[in-house]
Amino acid sequence: MSPTRQHLEITGLVQGVGFRPFCHRLAQRFALSGWVLNHGGGVSIEIQGRRIDDFISALKSELPPLARIDSIEQKDVPPEVNESEFLIRESLQSAVTAAIPPDSSVCPDCLRELFDPASRYYRYPFLNCTQCGPRYTVTRALPYDRANTSMAAFKLCPACQAEYDDPTNRRFHAQPTACPSCGPRLSMSADEIVHRLRDGEILAIKGLGGFHLVCDARNHDAVARLRIRKQREAKPFAVMAANLASLETLVELDDPTRALLESPQRPIVLAKQRSGAKLSPAIAPGLDSFGVVLPYTPLHYLIFNAAVGNPDGTEWLQETNDLALVMTSANPGGEPLVIGNDEARERLGSIADTLVDHDRDIVCRCDDSVLRITAGKARFIRRARSYVPEAIKLPHEIPSVLAVGGHLKNTICVTRGDRAYLSQHIGSLDNRATYAFFEEIVQHLLDTLQVKPAIVAHDLHPDFFSTRYAQELGLKQRLPTMAVQHHHAHLGAVAAEHGVTEAAIGLALDGFGLGENNESWGGELMLFDGAEYQRLGHLAPMKQPGADRAAREPWRMAAAVYDRLGRGEEIERRFPQTDTALLRQMLSKNLNCPATSSAGRLFDAAAGLLGVKAVSDYEGQAAMMLEGLTETPETMTHGWRIEDNRLDLLPLLERLIDCDPVTGANLFHGTLIAALTDWIEQTAEETKIKTVLLGGGCFLNQVLSSGLMNELTAKGYTVKLSQQAPCNDGGLSLGQAWIAGLRRR
Ligand SMILES: [Zn+2]
Ligand SMILES: [Zn+2]
Repeated sequence: MSPTRQHLEITGLVQGVGFRPFCHRLAQRFALSGWVLNHGGGVSIEIQGRRIDDFISALKSELPPLARIDSIEQKDVPPEVNESEFLIRESLQSAVTAAIPPDSSVCPDCLRELFDPASRYYRYPFLNCTQCGPRYTVTRALPYDRANTSMAAFKLCPACQAEYDDPTNRRFHAQPTACPSCGPRLSMSADEIVHRLRDGEILAIKGLGGFHLVCDARNHDAVARLRIRKQREAKPFAVMAANLASLETLVELDDPTRALLESPQRPIVLAKQRSGAKLSPAIAPGLDSFGVVLPYTPLHYLIFNAAVGNPDGTEWLQETNDLALVMTSANPGGEPLVIGNDEARERLGSIADTLVDHDRDIVCRCDDSVLRITAGKARFIRRARSYVPEAIKLPHEIPSVLAVGGHLKNTICVTRGDRAYLSQHIGSLDNRATYAFFEEIVQHLLDTLQVKPAIVAHDLHPDFFSTRYAQELGLKQRLPTMAVQHHHAHLGAVAAEHGVTEAAIGLALDGFGLGENNESWGGELMLFDGAEYQRLGHLAPMKQPGADRAAREPWRMAAAVYDRLGRGEEIERRFPQTDTALLRQMLSKNLNCPATSSAGRLFDAAAGLLGVKAVSDYEGQAAMMLEGLTETPETMTHGWRIEDNRLDLLPLLERLIDCDPVTGANLFHGTLIAALTDWIEQTAEETKIKTVLLGGGCFLNQVLSSGLMNELTAKGYTVKLSQQAPCNDGGLSLGQAWIAGLRRR
């Protein structure tokens, strides 16, 4: 049998992840000749020999951990006569259009070297290889080459250069590779860091995508001081521990949460605090859950290693380690994360006792990603480090769109072909520094993707900074702009990532979004049909006494419920706040009481009625506390009414007035789930549609999401909820992009 030759075209995440050396190793193992090369659309391979099938099956089954194959196209080509080797060929120029890979946590091989006294990388905080290390956060431009990263400042030493040039080496073309003799340096030893943490100091430590504020999570004085200095009165802090065994002394972990924590992306994952956990009570005041994370940079590991006396080898990695660290983004005053060394001295000087920096520049600011397991799947609360800029696949190609997102938890999105590139979490667009970050990311994404948008999509709200930016850009560059309604966009994001192209019933439950006729929406039942939507129904409108203030003060929403029930005279006794009398007047005269169909305000009303939280310290707090109180959801019969497709939960709210918080939380969640199911079933009967899209920030609520999905799935519906993008406003830009692209087609 004469040798055969095949040409393979591979797409997916196959560049900058050690894919070519992997092909080289496989070709040697199966005695094949040929070549591999990177180009704009992915990787081309030609292989010749007798064991081509073995090569292809190993290609799929032994793929490097960071790589992902989306498609393989295979065809026979005529064999070459004088070929004996397998070569890694020069990349084609068009490789420029390939994307930058996301950052990745230190890999097991590098971790072994880190604590191996015989390795030249022994205890070096910046070691990395093609399987791990910084990528997106150090890259200025494409192609993804060392010269275009902040590692360009460090000339490779001969030993590193030799590894970089050797196709059989794990560091072949590892762009950020470095060693103690040629790479970046840390300003303080791990021993000194641990010493200061144990002393109760607050440290600002430079990480992958920005600085963290770090302190001993068991030292209540330190954590309380951090809260005061950071002016973060109540938002929960994330906690890092050395390994799962150590985390398990602090929180309860199920299998999917464990797997997610240990994944190469190493995100922050929400988990329930274990009763009796030895942690400062200031970690997550009033909440039963907070974020936990495992170490993901070599420095994190060096710190935990120093905490147990600097043992060599890797055995200590499996043992319980009693160091637990608060790891919170250094973003004082709601401004973007600090990334520069001088900037850190200036902005963090009054918060941190000590600054730990290094001389590898962070090019692209990137917060930690935050996820939670809901209804059995990992779902984003904040999508950033280690996931950005990986593309989300769209159902089909659309014209290139720049979508600028909303106001809170802003992200932007750029599409190219059938891929959507969602930016990292940018933040709330309410200060100058965040505007600047927003503009920087728009430019960065357009540049690195080399996209000239055909259209700019924005929210319907005319006053958002993002909307005004889109309109100005449209004028300047003569680009068409398009407004996409907020909740339509939420549902569009779900449809885009799940490939739903047929009409669906969409339920958007959210805090606030501008609707048609200048109305305030947030509890919307829609007929979602891609480019278009029809508002089929909504939650019964509630008055918001004091307008925007009502969104921060749940007691106001509760008072509005008393008013609606005709029990206004009870308000003063129930809510002895200083401005109660004024509020009653507003309600009775209907002054400054705009109506809203927001589901977020419904949660606030319930929390206010149950006395869970009168005034919120941050957006969503009351709803999170209410969720935390829930034990077993229970349904109140006749707890809701549906008239003209309008869902009214007033009977439930009235019942809550006389409930204790736990009973009330159970009743509220259980009844809401039953009512929403009823509402959707009635709509499904009329429309004959069995696909349901769930979108909007309220679906971060695990009790609500799991409960509703279970109910609907059991009744035979196909139910979709975001996985690759956050279901809150962090995913809005994806939906805007998809809808604008569909309309433009
Ligand atoms: Zn590595
Ligand atoms: Zn070196």
